[in-house]
Amino acid sequence: APAETPQVVVDAHGLPYLDPKLPVKKRVADLLSRMSLEEKTGQMTQAERGAIGTGGDIASYGLGSLLSGGGSTPTPNTPGAWAKMIDGFQLRAQATRFQIPLIYGVDAVHGHNNLAGATVMPHNIGIGATRDPALAERTGAVTAAEVRATGIPWDFAPCLCVSRDERWGRSYESFGEDPALVDSMETVVQGLQGARDGKDLKRGDKVLATAKHFVGDGGTGYGTSTTGSYTLDQGVTKVTRQELEAVHLAPFETAVDRGVGTVMPSYSSLDIVGDGRGPVKMHARADMINGVLKGRMGFDGFVISDWNAIDQLPGDYASHVRTSVNAGVDMMMVPYSYKDFRTTLTDEVKAGRVTRKRIDDAVSRILAQKFRLGLFEKPYADTSGASRIGSAAHRAVARQAAAESQVLLKNAEGVLPLKKSQKVYVAGSNADDLGNQTGGWTLTWQGSSGPITKGTTILQGMRNAGGDVTYSKDASAPTAGYDVGVVVVGETPYAEGVGDVGNGNDLELTAADKAAVDKVCAAMKCAVLVVSGRPQLIGDRLGDIDALVASWLPGTEGDGVADVLYGKRAFTGQLPVTWPKSQSQLPINVGDASYDPQFPYGWGLTTLTKPVRGGAATLHELALVAAAAERSGADQVARKVVTKARLLVQQKIGSSVTAANAGHFADADHLLLTGHYAKAVAELTKAYRAG
Ligand code: BGC
Repeated sequence: APAETPQVVVDAHGLPYLDPKLPVKKRVADLLSRMSLEEKTGQMTQAERGAIGTGGDIASYGLGSLLSGGGSTPTPNTPGAWAKMIDGFQLRAQATRFQIPLIYGVDAVHGHNNLAGATVMPHNIGIGATRDPALAERTGAVTAAEVRATGIPWDFAPCLCVSRDERWGRSYESFGEDPALVDSMETVVQGLQGARDGKDLKRGDKVLATAKHFVGDGGTGYGTSTTGSYTLDQGVTKVTRQELEAVHLAPFETAVDRGVGTVMPSYSSLDIVGDGRGPVKMHARADMINGVLKGRMGFDGFVISDWNAIDQLPGDYASHVRTSVNAGVDMMMVPYSYKDFRTTLTDEVKAGRVTRKRIDDAVSRILAQKFRLGLFEKPYADTSGASRIGSAAHRAVARQAAAESQVLLKNAEGVLPLKKSQKVYVAGSNADDLGNQTGGWTLTWQGSSGPITKGTTILQGMRNAGGDVTYSKDASAPTAGYDVGVVVVGETPYAEGVGDVGNGNDLELTAADKAAVDKVCAAMKCAVLVVSGRPQLIGDRLGDIDALVASWLPGTEGDGVADVLYGKRAFTGQLPVTWPKSQSQLPINVGDASYDPQFPYGWGLTTLTKPVRGGAATLHELALVAAAAERSGADQVARKVVTKARLLVQQKIGSSVTAANAGHFADADHLLLTGHYAKAVAELTKAYRAG
């Protein structure tokens, strides 16, 4: 605890709600029965850290929560500074009459990304590419351990967006375009929170997770914005009820089953075809928040609004407040003014436009999570795990994730893996740039280029791997006498919105990137790595490129990328989204009527050295084994069988994706994820026959 003693107004000692042996329900009921209306509405308020100075208002307004969000900069940059800052605020909360602790939240969306020196994981798009739920869980566990060790018990992650149009600037926050894939990666919730019943939340290495953004954030249409300032981001998701259920709601159902502690509604509007309501902002949708989430799904955690989102609702401030609270939002993140919010909500209750029952429900949900986190017993930071922040063990997990997230799209003449004996020419804008490699939501909201934190770039990783490497960023050094070129191109960091607006918001490579690719690939055998939050258009250039890799935003461990480049590990990643041929194909998703991508959803070659022998006959046998395993519930075995079938097919068709085999490939991946193993092998067999 901090040296300064809290000024206790009333000694709460001995009151039932402070007894950790009592069940949470009893503690909540006891505390609630003692609180005034103002104290309750205060609990429903989350203020931005920078707006409250040294924190005097925490006690005067009885604030329930604080955050450092994307918009809060600068953030502290050492573990000790974070812990000290949060303890200072907590001290203020301890000076209120019931000593209700604050719950502090951050966006740790790929590791403790607000803290310099922390372990930064690949962004979700790369995690989706790994198809490795156990690994996703471990990345969540590392994130939780690093975040909690700085005194922060709450993480606004994971994003369960099912990204349907890569022009959206948050595509990389999505695990992929298929809800079944998003579903399978939700093991990350257990990594963050621990056991489904919440018993682990008291631990010094677990945090409360947030499933966001409810619902349909990834399904917004282009050009349908109601605000005018955004198109795909915060726009309108127009879907049939069936598509809403199958694509966008399904991942939230899973999150609720996994015991996720909080849910954040989306900034976007939802327009359900045929319901006659037109687009309605999610923060006003009682049918979805009260009805589907809390009602049908039985979500018993609390709903935290998005940043300042209620102020996007129509009408005056009082109507923003009552509409969102009545729709089921329990806590408001940065509600224009935390002072006005509490007063306005209190007045709305007194006027009978919001019921006391609704307030009690909201506050009960919030208090229950605070009790589960053990904050009443231990309000101050437990920094005992701080030495593990950025540790070798944590970086090893990030390195494995970076390696497994690499998707080998083309590999003519076996250019990859590289050999240490080869002389390699490395070029391109993203070969040696840690900031570009980590992307947005890294140290700052938008992220930035350059050596912004501790880690290895891809170039450094290649050198660490013992590669004989010459580097020329713009490929201006002479290109004579090399065995192979590696050109690393892609995007610069951005967050939210529509991405790199300056670059035309299309998925084209920059002129400089194209020039580097053209120069190197004309001079020698070449591999091109695309470091980006979404597919980039390669188009006809594909013919001049020998090997192509989707590297996504791999995080701080460039060593992991080097691991697959130099064959220490085999490429095993698969596309989490469809890779389009041209801008005019967007949006393009598996299952579309005319599906003719450059690389289909689920695509990914392997550099596994052991050859997979066989043909259609072997595939038939594999289908039988898969069916048997499926019948006996041996999922592990069945998955392995499907993977073997996939490798076999890939070895036959190599890089020759055709409209005929692409659809089968994509369907097979979906079937695998949904547990239809024999059918997955059957689809792969069709791809094999299509050649
Ligand atoms: C984002 C949320 C995020 C919040 C706090 C908003 O702009 O949409 O995903 O949790 O900011 O940083």
